[in-house]
Amino acid sequence: MAYSPTVELAKQLGAIKVVDVSRENETKRVAQYFDYLLVLDFEATCWCFPNGKGRKNEVIEFSVVLYDVNEGRIIDEFQQYVQPTEFPILSEFCTELTGITQKQVDEGVPIGTCLMLFTRWINNHQKNLNISFPCDMVLPGKKKCVFVTWSDWDLGVCLPKECRRKNIYKQEFFGKWVDLREIYMEHYYRRPKGLLGALEEVGLEFIGKQHSGLDDAKNTAYLVRKLIEDGALLRISRMNKKKR
Ligand code: AMP
Ligand code: MG
Ligand code: MG
Repeated sequence: MAYSPTVELAKQLGAIKVVDVSRENETKRVAQYFDYLLVLDFEATCWCFPNGKGRKNEVIEFSVVLYDVNEGRIIDEFQQYVQPTEFPILSEFCTELTGITQKQVDEGVPIGTCLMLFTRWINNHQKNLNISFPCDMVLPGKKKCVFVTWSDWDLGVCLPKECRRKNIYKQEFFGKWVDLREIYMEHYYRRPKGLLGALEEVGLEFIGKQHSGLDDAKNTAYLVRKLIEDGALLRISRMNKKKR
């Protein structure tokens, strides 16, 4: 690599240390407990403050990418638009923020159907990849898999509250996940400004559109890859004790 004359001089004087980042990363990595990650991101109905006062969020996009930890890449994706029923008409603010249109949600499925479609998708992967899921039911010889989300909002707030309000069965496997935001803060000792800020702080660019569920999930997976390279250990940080 070519350096500027000032940097060359500083190197010769021992004022700066040149670190081979690729070699350094090899030594930083620690053995991970999980073989596969289900990196999940929801988009939900929302309103420009204070218009949303008293209104509850409903999932309108349910996106998950399946990430292979050993290969360090996304191997499949699940994306489903969901019809909101409590406030079926999206606000302009919501469409602007998420890029999701009224037509997309009108053509989507109810949340209960979406949960069933996702369950079928994950069941197929469970069989094909020899995965044991939920993550705490690990059987000998089986691969381990866990949900990863950016913050606790998706699985800790949004989905449980909506399922409770609508009296919809929420599969038990949604009750445990890795909060990547918490892992990030513990590992780098800093509080990032959202997913975008977290990516920028580690030198990654956000690829795609922010607040699009699938792009958010993919970028969260790229951040996972960076954290693993930097020696972070993924662990379950949150659990929902209530079944619904
Ligand atoms: P995100 O995964 O960051 O795109 O956020 C998930 C959901 O949180 C969005 O679909 C919105 O319902 C809500 N949300 C995110 N950012 C905002 C914001 N600035 N104002 C209002 N709601 C928001
Ligand atoms: Mg999100
Ligand atoms: Mg999002």
